[in-house]
Amino acid sequence: MSNLKPILAIIVPCYNEELCVVSTVERLLEVKADLVHKNKISEDSYIYLVDDGSKDDTWKLISEMHNKFNDVKGLKFIRNFGNQKALIAGYECVRNLGCDCAVSIDADLQQDECAIERFIDKYLQGADIVSGIRNSRKTDTLFKKTTAILFYKLMNILGAKIPMNHSDFRLVSKRALDIMELYPEKYLFLRGFFNEVGLKTEYVTFDVKARMAGESKFNFLKLMGLALNGITSFSVVPLRIISVLGFIMAFVSFIIGAETVVEKIFFHNTPNGWATNIILLCFFGGIQICCLGIIGEYVGQVFREVKSRPRYIKEIELK
Ligand code: UDP
Ligand code: MG
Repeated sequence: MSNLKPILAIIVPCYNEELCVVSTVERLLEVKADLVHKNKISEDSYIYLVDDGSKDDTWKLISEMHNKFNDVKGLKFIRNFGNQKALIAGYECVRNLGCDCAVSIDADLQQDECAIERFIDKYLQGADIVSGIRNSRKTDTLFKKTTAILFYKLMNILGAKIPMNHSDFRLVSKRALDIMELYPEKYLFLRGFFNEVGLKTEYVTFDVKARMAGESKFNFLKLMGLALNGITSFSVVPLRIISVLGFIMAFVSFIIGAETVVEKIFFHNTPNGWATNIILLCFFGGIQICCLGIIGEYVGQVFREVKSRPRYIKEIELK
């Protein structure tokens, strides 16, 4: 890195955030001014808002702020593509616009914006990726807390080493963004990707606040989609488990089959085991359907990638 101060781009995905977006941008401009004042980042740093096809006045407010402040830029999707796509679009666009590092943060400022300074400090010390780790999950519902813990545990067992309580609040360097270009997959799972590339990574813990205004834009189905995409795009262990399970089941079936034949031929007392039949039928049936489901998820992943549709479609971009 040269002696020049780095240009920081702060990426904010927004979906129906008319209640938050203005105060969030004002707060982030304060954070920027403070960091510029402390000589940590360049005056040319900016905020980049990605409107993920909002149906409310979010985009109108973003355009107004763009007209008012020249360090507020943004992009609007033609429709809702989801938070991951909004983040990816943000990373791609700020890379094209020019920046030395980029921080992504939620529009409701649930993540502590004051931690950005610590992100920058780590970056200035040479880190390429600085990941935000939640201190606690106090603001989450019990359901979200439990499913999140299960997800991270499962991901780690399956071989995708993602730290617990990881979030999409992170800093990435220009170098990491350049590497992202080499990953053409459409459904890139960012938390897995940034952990996998092997760049120098540092961690910063932060406190999670309650949502500033409005409601969470994530429902159960969206979260489940994110989790399944994370697993199927970063691990093939479930497929391997199925193969092993298949072998074990074939072996057990063979033994049971052999035993039945022996009973029939030598002892002539073919059992009247109705219950055993039903139990075995349900057991094997259940396992088979479950395995088919897992294979189906991977086939779906291949299907979506092979179609190679665009990740997102821009409607307008304000540079
Ligand atoms: N978001 C988005 N597209 C979506 C859903 C959410 O861009 O389809 C944005 C949202 O505006 C916010 C961030 O993703 O900036 C996190 O969403 P939210 O705060 O609703 O999720 P939670 O904090 O409840 O997990
Ligand atoms: Mg939130």
